[in-house]
Amino acid sequence: MFYKEAIPRCQWVDIRDALYISYHDQEWGIPVHQDNRLFEALALEMFAAGLSWKHILHKRSAFREAFDNFDVIKISQYDDKKIISLLKNNTIIRHKGKITACIHNAQVFLKIQSEWGSFNHYLWHWTNDKSIFSDGLETTSLLSDIISHDLKKQGMKFVGSITIFAYLCAIGIIQAHQDTCFMKRKQI
Ligand SMILES: [Zn+2]
Repeated sequence: MFYKEAIPRCQWVDIRDALYISYHDQEWGIPVHQDNRLFEALALEMFAAGLSWKHILHKRSAFREAFDNFDVIKISQYDDKKIISLLKNNTIIRHKGKITACIHNAQVFLKIQSEWGSFNHYLWHWTNDKSIFSDGLETTSLLSDIISHDLKKQGMKFVGSITIFAYLCAIGIIQAHQDTCFMKRKQI
């Protein structure tokens, strides 16, 4: 692990945490276009609202197990019995408002999918299918404001601008590696 510590990364990366390092180096900011992965990332960012991403990342495999691998169709059909079982599951975030919002957002996600052909098409159209750059210091932007507003208008919950900004960075629409980070140099 020592050689990894010598590599300059975004300052928010906890270099004592191997899972966090590999997430930063191999996933964060790399463009995602598959709808199932776009839904998973959105759902996890929603659960992360008000908490640390690191906390959610360490629960990601438990979330995948509890939420049918983030199968959006299955989640959109969760009933009260399933909600009760999720609320008893101490490996995930047991927040009733977020769990019911996740189910509701899955239903809205499917509606957007059917209107746009794919959620990917909907999400990337805001930037004409291109990634845009951020200095890595912002927590919201005009783009995250606009998309947050649109998703709320369509009925999604827990999709404030800070959550959407983090989401757009995670799935590569916004490239937010800091100037000193080796991943930033790779992107230029
Ligand atoms: Zn970085």
